[in-house]
Amino acid sequence: AALLACSAAACGSSEKTTDKQASGVADNAGALIGVTMPTRSSQRWNGDGQNVKKELEALGYKVDLQYAEDDIPTQVNQVENQITKGVKLLIIASIDGTAMTSQLQSAADAKIPVIAYDRLILKSPNVGYYATFDNFKVGVQQATSLLTGLGLLDAGGAPGAAKGPFNVELFAGSPDDNNATFFYNGAMSVLRPYLDKGVLKVPSGQTGFPAIAILRWQARTAQDRMENLLTSTYRSGLKVDGVLSPYDGLSIGIVSALKSNGYGTTGQPYPVVTGQDAEVVSVKSIVAGEQYSTIFKDYRDLARTSAQMADAVLKGSKPATNNDKDYDNGVKVVPSMLLDTTIVNKGNYEKALIDSGFYTRAQLK
Ligand code: BGC
Repeated sequence: AALLACSAAACGSSEKTTDKQASGVADNAGALIGVTMPTRSSQRWNGDGQNVKKELEALGYKVDLQYAEDDIPTQVNQVENQITKGVKLLIIASIDGTAMTSQLQSAADAKIPVIAYDRLILKSPNVGYYATFDNFKVGVQQATSLLTGLGLLDAGGAPGAAKGPFNVELFAGSPDDNNATFFYNGAMSVLRPYLDKGVLKVPSGQTGFPAIAILRWQARTAQDRMENLLTSTYRSGLKVDGVLSPYDGLSIGIVSALKSNGYGTTGQPYPVVTGQDAEVVSVKSIVAGEQYSTIFKDYRDLARTSAQMADAVLKGSKPATNNDKDYDNGVKVVPSMLLDTTIVNKGNYEKALIDSGFYTRAQLK
């Protein structure tokens, strides 16, 4: 009950919409906004948190920013505390998309709007908007760069000189993160015809999402799975030609396992390993010829987009969205803004990452 204290503008009658909105503008100026991010253990989320805070502050808001170190109860508590503190809006990058239903009900009861950040919040009617990247397309891009790296496609996307067959292994993200399925489905939409024709083979036989998903996106789990595959399926001398990895953190673990099993030498080069997020360590690994590619998601734009959404909502207007059909959270279709992404490899990293001002040259040394 304590958390239901709210201003007249937020809790008052909804009959006179225009008046309410007009007073809402004044009331919400400089309001406190709660921002929760999943973990500090990945470079991207640190950047996301800082950028969202900066963008909101530039619009005059105050920000309570929290990180939950991938622990679901911690994040749930943080959201609860923010509601108690009287935030006027919540921006949430969830760990488990389904874990927050009752907290979001408290938020709705207190007329606190919620914006899902990067990851959709599932099974709740109380999610107003969703700011993210085109997650299906990210998967398409990951699979496309795997095919390009193997020589099955050329740089322009036309059939390449290589014919296969190639041995590949597939990895997917955390099952409680809605994005992981989008990445997987996007990737499989590209890979399936090659698998069906036998141009790509998965010697482990593990191709279904549950078999290849890595809980909480843990590098160590991916490394262990890769080790296991190398010492079982590949024990007899079979070679891995490619690995579909959905996230740079996992790619680092996968490359380590490959390295300790003799890959990365002249006689046995690394397979084509994909990634996502263009994290510094992985870009360096790409430049060093270990990881093959990553997907650059310019989260400066995502931070700006979510701050603009928050500002619009707090001013009583409707934020811009560009996809109002694909992100069904199980209870409602959440109006979404999807941003674009870029495949990055050794050939274009300078243009994509340095010329865009995302990194300085020195950071990638
Ligand atoms: C994000 C990815 C990130 C992954 C692991 C996903 O929800 O969309 O950018 O690589 O989480 O942190």
